[in-house]
Amino acid sequence: IRNIGIIAHIDAGKTTTTERILYYTGKIYRIGEVDEGTATMDWMPEEQERGITITAAATTCKWRDCMINIIDTPGHVDFTAEVERSLKVLDGAVVVFCGVGGVEPQSETVWRQADRYRVPRIAFINKLDRVGSDFFIVVEEIEKKLGAKSSPIQLPLGKEADFKGIIDLLEMKQVRFQEEDLGSTFFTEEISETYKEEALKFRHLLLERLSEFDEHLMEKFVHNKEVSILEIKKALREATIKHQFVPILCGAALRNKGIQMLLDAICDYLPSPLDIPAIEGEHPETKEKLSRRPDDKEPFSALCFKVMTDPYVGRLTYFRVYSGVLRSGSYIFNINKDKKERVAKLLRMHANKQEIIKEALAGDIVAAVGLKDTTTGDTLCAKEELIVLEQVHFPEPVISMAIEPASKIDQEKLGLSLNKLQEEDPTFTVKYNQETGQTLISGMGELHLEILIERLTREFKVNANVGRPEVAYKETITKEVRTVGKFIQQTGGRGQYGHVVLEMRPAERRTGLIFKSKIAGGVIPKEFIPAVEEGVLLASKNGVLAGYPVIDVEAILVDGSYHEVDSSDLAFKMAGSIAFTEGLKKGFCVLMEPIMDFEVVFPEEYIGDVVGDLNSRRCKISSILQRANAKVVRGYAPLAEMFGYATVIRSLTKGRATYTMEPSHYSEVPSDIALKIIGK
Ligand code: GDP
Repeated sequence: IRNIGIIAHIDAGKTTTTERILYYTGKIYRIGEVDEGTATMDWMPEEQERGITITAAATTCKWRDCMINIIDTPGHVDFTAEVERSLKVLDGAVVVFCGVGGVEPQSETVWRQADRYRVPRIAFINKLDRVGSDFFIVVEEIEKKLGAKSSPIQLPLGKEADFKGIIDLLEMKQVRFQEEDLGSTFFTEEISETYKEEALKFRHLLLERLSEFDEHLMEKFVHNKEVSILEIKKALREATIKHQFVPILCGAALRNKGIQMLLDAICDYLPSPLDIPAIEGEHPETKEKLSRRPDDKEPFSALCFKVMTDPYVGRLTYFRVYSGVLRSGSYIFNINKDKKERVAKLLRMHANKQEIIKEALAGDIVAAVGLKDTTTGDTLCAKEELIVLEQVHFPEPVISMAIEPASKIDQEKLGLSLNKLQEEDPTFTVKYNQETGQTLISGMGELHLEILIERLTREFKVNANVGRPEVAYKETITKEVRTVGKFIQQTGGRGQYGHVVLEMRPAERRTGLIFKSKIAGGVIPKEFIPAVEEGVLLASKNGVLAGYPVIDVEAILVDGSYHEVDSSDLAFKMAGSIAFTEGLKKGFCVLMEPIMDFEVVFPEEYIGDVVGDLNSRRCKISSILQRANAKVVRGYAPLAEMFGYATVIRSLTKGRATYTMEPSHYSEVPSDIALKIIGK
């Protein structure tokens, strides 16, 4: 098994490459061009329109004796959470670069993410048929900009329109593709005289670099002894899997060149689940560290990385099995939801069909039908052998929009559809505001929400009107306080009695809201404590400054009292809410705003204009670097100041800049600005 992702910046040719892989592995019989909007992986209509891939679906194909599961990763930074989620379940990746654009800012972002998850990878330099493409420049950039120890294992045969095939530096042969049958046939021949010298030079370089990681190879290399192809392959495989080395390949996916060899390289150099260390986790109660080896005999454990709604089979839960075996029809335990779930059906998803399978083995990536409560990031395990696998971290949504049904008919459908979208995507949230009667949807950026709204119309056939995008502010306290909440009504008949005392203090960044109970000796009976927590959580949804959600507060239930007859869940819930809201009033609340991490790359002549403009947006510039003849400005900026930045930067640089932006953290809004927001 190879569980791989194909990652790239937008337009490098990821979709085309995936498409060709599926074609050559025999799963699809017609090559769908991305340009015509028929590519097999991108089945959602709005992806086809925009030409970008949004969701991570897993597709299985076979090459030689390997089953390759391709987890499709989105390329746009607004979907960073999706990229990270899929990286988590991958064992290896193919990074596609454009032979003209080379290492672009977004390639760096995905590369750094892959580094964080220690994903072994191979590089594929694509589009070598295009005018202006240069394999050797991109090779250099991979080394310099990405700092990757790497070396080509292939060279292009010819350049631009003359790009005919590939020189294999292991076999020392050249491969020419037959144009007429979409590259299915190719001829292997001796390397042409023109390229011999270059090929020898790069083979030498490859061996020299590889021998750094392999003593046996080093020994042979320094003594100028003949090295066999098998020996090179073994060294390459080991160094790649250990994260030490990146083999570089080349081709032109659109022209059907280099794909078969890329598939060989996936099998030869990327790890199988057996090459990966055991997955770590912990016991949900004892917190004892546990691990699971990729072995069918180990207790079952799996991680859900995607939930999708399929028009035919309904809710599909994609997960990776880390250990053990799962049979269809059996029960598994969802540790995060504390629920038993029945697997009605197990499916392997191919590009053009769904295959029903009886069991999923350790290392597999499959989809299940029948799981009702499982959402992205949940651990599934055997009831007898509990384990929580590391949680996937999702950033807080930073941008919101009001949404309302366009007509009465849409009203009910809107709620249901938003729920489904929320289940699929943990970075998308839906909230109903009781006071204003408004429904608010929140996400990671303007494009993120735009795409979800399009899906509503197309996929769910719901028409909705949306408001302008707004910053998702939060509130928090700055001081430790003790606060009392009483909900007591005792005038005749059965009354109400709830009384709680809370200690509230500022918590660390990104902790959200923490509730703890330190009640001893039954001053409040145990059964009422969940109701207090519920009340606190409810009150935290509306802060006291301007009604924004409250984050990063620790609320500890320390005291209270109860009444034998009059106390109830409801009374304690109310008391909890009252205490929390009172605490907010005493705790010197401040307004918090999302800060974005940004990078702008542009020709250096615009430096004055770009930096001047950034300075007027409350930005903190952290570095200005030179990259070839471009300037790279990095820093932090409040999201509120960056709406519509795409248009501004376009006009400032005559369209020659690229920029990326992703949520970084929340920080306090300066008080003069906060006053305006609160007062509005
Ligand atoms: P993605 O955004 O990374 O998924 O990229 P796509 O696969 O959608 O490709 C972007 C554009 O580049 C499309 O117009 C493709 O037809 C084109 N393209 C992809 N691969 C090649 C190639 O090898 N050569 C040329 N000339 N164009 C290519």
